[in-house]
Amino acid sequence: MTFEDFNLSKPLLNALNEQEISSPTGIQEEAIPVISSGADVIGIAQTGTGKTLAYLVPILKNLKYSDQRQPRVMILVPTRELVVQVIQEIEKLTTYMSVRTLGVYGGTNINTQKQKIYEGCDILVATPGRLYDLVMTGILRLKSIQKLVIDECDEMLNLGFRPQLERILELLPTKRQNLMFSATMTEEVHALIESYFSNTQKIEISRVGKPIEGINQSFYAVPNFNTKVNFLVHLLGDKEIFKKVFVFVRSKKYADAIHAEVEKYFPNEFGAVHSNKSQNYRLRMIEEFQSNQLRGIIATDVVSRGIDVDLVSHVINFDIPDLAEQYIHRIGRTGRQKEKGATISLITAGELENIERIFELMDTSFDIIDLPTEVKLNKELIADEEPISIHDAPTLKGKSFRYTVVKPPSQGKLQQRSGKTPKKNAKKKRR
Ligand code: AMP
Repeated sequence: MTFEDFNLSKPLLNALNEQEISSPTGIQEEAIPVISSGADVIGIAQTGTGKTLAYLVPILKNLKYSDQRQPRVMILVPTRELVVQVIQEIEKLTTYMSVRTLGVYGGTNINTQKQKIYEGCDILVATPGRLYDLVMTGILRLKSIQKLVIDECDEMLNLGFRPQLERILELLPTKRQNLMFSATMTEEVHALIESYFSNTQKIEISRVGKPIEGINQSFYAVPNFNTKVNFLVHLLGDKEIFKKVFVFVRSKKYADAIHAEVEKYFPNEFGAVHSNKSQNYRLRMIEEFQSNQLRGIIATDVVSRGIDVDLVSHVINFDIPDLAEQYIHRIGRTGRQKEKGATISLITAGELENIERIFELMDTSFDIIDLPTEVKLNKELIADEEPISIHDAPTLKGKSFRYTVVKPPSQGKLQQRSGKTPKKNAKKKRR
C-alpha cells in the first residue's frame, strides 16, 4: 500500500514524496481512511509509529482554503516541545499548500501569541494551559473548531491537565470531529472518553513485534557522519563476510554522498536507490543486486519495505530512522526465509533517542559497542551536523557514549573526547 491509495491531493503527495515517505505505517493504514470519513477516532499508538501523520494527513486532505481568522483545527499536546514538533510536521506537509499554522505554549510572552492569533490561523497547535488563557483573553474563540485532536492524551492527564482539558471541551462546538491519541489506555483516558465522547472508533496498533529470530543485531557508537563513512568502508572491505549488503540512509542526499565515497574504494560494486532515481533505474539496480552483479545497494527507506532479495547477508543502518517501525522494516531485508542475517547500526549521540524507541518497540535492548580501534576517526563535521555540547550528550540507560563532539567557541574546531561520562541531561525531542 502507498499514500497514493488514500486519494490525496498532489501538493500533499509531493510533500510526502519529498520526505521520502511512501508507504503508510500500520496506524496510518488503519486510521487515515476512518479519519477521512469524518468519524471520531481513538488511536492507541506510541511515538515512533507514525501517529502524527495518521491524523495530519486526513486533516490536511479535507482542509479547504479559507481566510477566516479563527482556527478550524485544534491540536492539543502536553508539552511545548511537542507543539514545536507537530508544527514542523505540518509545515513539511504543507509546503505546497496555503495553510496557516500557529503554535502556542506557556512560558513565553502571551501578548506576542495574542497578536498572532489575531492575525489568523487555520490550524492551532497548543498546550492546554496556554490555550485556555488565550481563550480567557477573548482574542481566541473556539466556536469555529471543526476538528479537535488530543495527542498524547495519557501524558496530558499524567501532567495534570484534566481541568484545563475539560474547560476547553465545554467551549467547543458540539458538532466537531474528535481525534484522540494515547500511547496507553489508562483509567483516566478511559474516563475522559466516557464523559466527553460517544461513538468513537478505536484503532489500536499492536507492537510491530520482535524482528525475526535469525537476525543478529549489533549497535556501534560512532561520533559523526565522516567517521561513519570510514566505518562503512572498513566493514565493506571484508568481501567474504559482507557478501550482499543493504545500506540504509535517511536521505537521498546522503545516499548519493555515501555512494560516491564507497565507489572510490569499491568501484561498480554498489548501486544507489532513492526516490529521485527513475523507476526503471531503481528496478534495474535491485535486479542487479538480486542476481549478484552488485554487492550492495545504498538506499533510502523507499526500499525498506516489501522488497524481497534472497540471501542478503547484512543490513547496515548508516543512520537510525526516526520511525521505530522503519528499523524493523529495514532489518527485515535480511534473515529472510529462515536464512541467517545480520544487521549493524551506526549510532551518533543525537540518534540515541531513536534507538531507545526501537528497543522499546522490540521489547528488548542491546549493548552499544565502541567503534573498533582500527577505524579512523574523522573529527570533521558535515554541514548538517550540529555540534553537541558535552553537557547535552544523552546517555542510554546508564550507558554513556564514548565519543562526544564539542565545538569550542574560540576556534570552531571539533574536539573529540573519549572515555568520559557526560552529564545525563538528554535533550529530549519528546518530553
Ligand atoms: P511519530 O510516531 O508520529 O512521532 O513519527 C515518527 C517519525 O516518523 C517522524 O519523523 C515522521 O516524519 C516519520 N514518519 C511518519 N510516518 C512515516 C512513514 N509512513 N514513512 C516514513 N517515515 C514516517
